[in-house]
Order: sequence, then structure tokens, then C-alpha cells
Amino acid sequence: MSDTFGFDTLQIHAGARPDPATGARQVPIYQTTAYVFRDADHAAALFNLQEVGYIYSRLTNPTVAALGERVAALEGGAGAVCCSSGHAAQIMALFPLMMPGTNIVASTRLYGGTITQFSQTFRRFGWSTNFVDTDDLAAVDAAIDDNTRAIFAETIANPGGYVTDIPALAEIANRHGIPLIIDNTTATPYLANPIAQGATLVVHSMTKYLTGNGTVTGGVVVDSGAFDWSQNDKFPSLSQPEPAYHGLKFHETFGSLAFTFHSIAIGLRDLGMTLNPQAAHYSLMGIETLSLRMDKHVANAQKLAEWLQADNRVEAVTYAGLDSSPYKERAGRIVPKGAGALFTVALKGGYEACVKLVDSLELFSHVANLGDTRSLIIHSASTTHRQLSPEQQVAAGAAPNVVRLSIGIEDADDLIADLDQALAKATA
Ligand SMILES: *Cc1c(COP(=O)(O)O)cnc(C)c1O
Repeated sequence: MSDTFGFDTLQIHAGARPDPATGARQVPIYQTTAYVFRDADHAAALFNLQEVGYIYSRLTNPTVAALGERVAALEGGAGAVCCSSGHAAQIMALFPLMMPGTNIVASTRLYGGTITQFSQTFRRFGWSTNFVDTDDLAAVDAAIDDNTRAIFAETIANPGGYVTDIPALAEIANRHGIPLIIDNTTATPYLANPIAQGATLVVHSMTKYLTGNGTVTGGVVVDSGAFDWSQNDKFPSLSQPEPAYHGLKFHETFGSLAFTFHSIAIGLRDLGMTLNPQAAHYSLMGIETLSLRMDKHVANAQKLAEWLQADNRVEAVTYAGLDSSPYKERAGRIVPKGAGALFTVALKGGYEACVKLVDSLELFSHVANLGDTRSLIIHSASTTHRQLSPEQQVAAGAAPNVVRLSIGIEDADDLIADLDQALAKATA
């Protein structure tokens, strides 16, 4: 697909072409496990990675491939691999880079589930994580040692309304010869382009805004294709001979597609965190309207954040689109089309008022999700961030007196009316 096309064109057309067998205009759901080989030579070439084609749907599937191509185009990457969830995408992003004994430097302000995955489960792989405040660039630099294989942060950190200085982290990563991985879930490629700002890998929970309507669990890893995996000896999986493929060197053989090919040929083959074609179909449908939805999400979020901030039952609102936000200036650089639609509200009534608010809302749904067309609310301290220590909760923007809102694309006035009546009950 031509890279001169604009975002609105790419979100509909990238990765899609009329079906060669039937002419079907919409991408068909290729609900098949396997693909017939032309002959024995064809099969051998596919298994040797000498020819690109479909073998088995744990590795590749045409519906899933169309989705990967579309997200790669929107993010400005060379290739993408779809996965069964956002958390799977995070494992898939790190898998080619890591060995037992290696570590990553990650932001303290990550999605709660990611902090748990990185700090608990990754330890069993022999991977460790140094959490640092990524606003403190000297601390990020100091946290990197010889065994560090990546820096990891989120564009707009969920749920605290923090915006990450992606170019500044990219400069540090480049200087150390390691990739910067950005979780762009809450911004989406419409609001932020981490690759253009220096990131090597971008991960998404497609469960959220990309699909957009709360129907799918999915993830994707996008590779910029620009990182030199052979510049040092830190990434042997990509730069050194691979025994499982007769000594093939992924970087030497596939160049800018080395990471993507490795993720399919080794990652999906052996970890099996594959996205199914039905889910890929829903995500393709969702992405067709991404820019329209994000404009409305952002407009509603701005209006609601301003209304809440002016309300005397509210202590504080952390939305980077507000003039009062310390991240306002940075948001203008990193997410120029808007600071997303996710923010937290601290209530004067504390923990009790938060719980009552959540129970009194009628239009907002109390769910552990975000990035849906409908407005959602959660009290992070008693749910998603429950596993964290009180210090970690505060660092992640999920203190006990804080609720997180994910603003949908309903009429803003209806959402304000709902919040108004629920705040009245919560503070009565
Ligand atoms: C939801 C989420 C994830 C995890 O994605 P799943 O699809 O639920 O596995 C990771 N990062 C962020 C920012 C998220 O919001």
C-alpha cells in the first residue's frame, strides 16, 4: 500500500485486497487450520523459510496477516505480528531479545497487569525488570547495565494520564544499542506515532481502541525495521545462526523484516500465542473507523475532564489535555491530536465516595476494560491495581481515592448528567 496515502485511507485499505479466489471485497474470515501445498518442493521451501506462504494457522493465516499489515501501515512499521492478547504481545516483543539473566528497564507507570507480568511472571523465565520513573532520564540511563535488552514504556500511561517523552527515551536506548519498546494501546497510531519518534517496537492490546467495541482479546507487535540487531552481541537470536533453521541468521537473511520473521517462525511456532481469524476480522472492522472514534473519544474526554475539574466534589483530574496538567506541553509534542480518552479523578470523599460513585452510575459501566465505544469506570485500587503495594498504587496513579474513567463516544451531555447524579449520591 502506498505510503503517500493518509491515515483515513490506510485504516480502511491497508492489508486488504479483493479476495483472489472470489473477488470478495471485505477481507474473508479464512477459518482454516492448514493450507494445501502445491507439491513437495513447495512444502519444503516453505518449511525452510525460502518462500513465504501459508503452512498452518498457528504461524500465519490470511485474515490475521491482513490485520498485521494494516496495523504495520498505520504505525509506519516494516512488519507486524498479531497475538492472542496484549499481554501475549508483550511476551512476543521481548522473547527474541531476552535470555535468562537479562533484564529490561521499564516505567513505574505501566498498566497494572503489565507491572505484575514483568515483576512476577517474567522472573520465572530468568528475566528481571528495573522499574524507574521514566521522567527522570538520568535514572533511566543509570538503570541500564550490560544485561539490559530493552526500555519499555507506554505512550499515555494507563491510568494516570502521564505522557512519555518517547524521543528522549529513544535517544538513551540508541546510545546503549538497545531497542525502545512502546505500548501504544491508549494512544493508538492515530494519536501517536512512536516509531516516527524513535521507538523500535510498538505493542498494542487490540482489545482496546484498535478493535474499539469490547468484543475481542488481541494484541500486536509492530517492528520499525530500522534497528541494527547486529551492531553488538546482545541479540544472538536475531544476529547469530539459528540451529532450528540450519544455521540461518535472521538479521542477515531478512534485513528489516528479521524481527517479524523471527516472531512468526520461532515465536508463534513455539509459544503459540496466535490470534484467531474470527478475532482478526472484528479487529479489522474496528480499525476501519479508528480515526473517527478517536476524535470523538478525545473531544468527549476533554469536555468531561473540564467539567469534572470545575466540580467542587472533585479533588483533582489527571488528564494531559487540561491546562492544569504538568504533561500538557509534552502531550502537544507526543500526542498532538489529543491526549486520549482515559483519565483519573480523585474524589474529596476518598475510598468510600469512589465505591459509591461506581455503584451509582447508570450509563457508565463498571468493568475492567478501557477503550470501548461505551464509557467505562473502574476503581483501580480495589480491582486492577489490587495486587500492587500501596506505594506502587500511588506511583501508578491508582491511589485509593481515585477512579479511572474511559470516556466513550456517547453524547457528552448524557455522560455529564450521569456523573452529576452519581456524584450527588456518592457525596450525600
Ligand atoms: C489492556 C492493556 C494491556 C493488556 O492487554 P490484554 O489484551 O488485556 O492482554 C497492556 N497494556 C495496556 C496499556 C492495556 O491497557
